[in-house]
Amino acid sequence: MNVRCDDVLLWMRLPWTMVEVDLLGSGNAFLPSGRFHSFLMIDKHIIIDCPPTALASLRKAKISPADIDTILITHVHGDHVFGFPFFLLERKYISDREGTKPLTVAGSKIVKDRLSELCKLAYPGSLDEMLQEINWVDVPDLEGWSMERFEVFHEPSVEPHGWMLNNDEGWSMLHSGDSGPCDELWNRIQKCSFAVVEMGVPEYVETDEHHKPSDINKLAELCPDTILILTHTYIDSDYPILTTDVPEFPKNVIHGEDGMSFVLDKSGQIC
Ligand SMILES: [Zn+2]
Repeated sequence: MNVRCDDVLLWMRLPWTMVEVDLLGSGNAFLPSGRFHSFLMIDKHIIIDCPPTALASLRKAKISPADIDTILITHVHGDHVFGFPFFLLERKYISDREGTKPLTVAGSKIVKDRLSELCKLAYPGSLDEMLQEINWVDVPDLEGWSMERFEVFHEPSVEPHGWMLNNDEGWSMLHSGDSGPCDELWNRIQKCSFAVVEMGVPEYVETDEHHKPSDINKLAELCPDTILILTHTYIDSDYPILTTDVPEFPKNVIHGEDGMSFVLDKSGQIC
């Protein structure tokens, strides 16, 4: 069942064992019509990446940037992290003026330097103190979860990773980051009940660094018990720029739209 991502009352009624996953943005780097950049939020306090449209997505979902305590970075391509200076600036001047809300940023080695550099370029001097206060980690320590960051197949210079989130109840979910098909990713997806997977390019684009519809079909057949949520899509949602046609996929595939929300029960199934 889908719930509206701004349905705070429903969220407040959820038993603590349930997990809410909000797809705040579902588009690839080129912003297909009707979509913000791919952007995921978990239980209204963890976000995956911080794309240029992150602040717009959070505003639309009525989530304050100060409520976010953890950011999991997949890689440092612009459409995944260039929203970070705006996110920090908003906290500094609007939602966390006292600077009391802790923030952990998790990712590979390059992440701290690249995000700090971005902030210095965007707002010289303004964010230096905040950058010092951030808890920069490889992998965060979060109640209810054990998390793993793993290498995926994408442009190596941006240190591409996926995130696997193992829930204390014994089930796992995953975010692919940007990646073409690769064993590490596909083997992990088979162990998950719920996986958010990128489908960045149409069939005719010659690259193996993103999934195409035919890859998704193969993956879906390989793991019939996993629900695959497609994100980072090239398909327009509003008016056609490239195309609004969504290919036919097996039953366990959901082509994502901005604002889709999923509640997962204590076995990681959509309820
Ligand atoms: Zn990328």
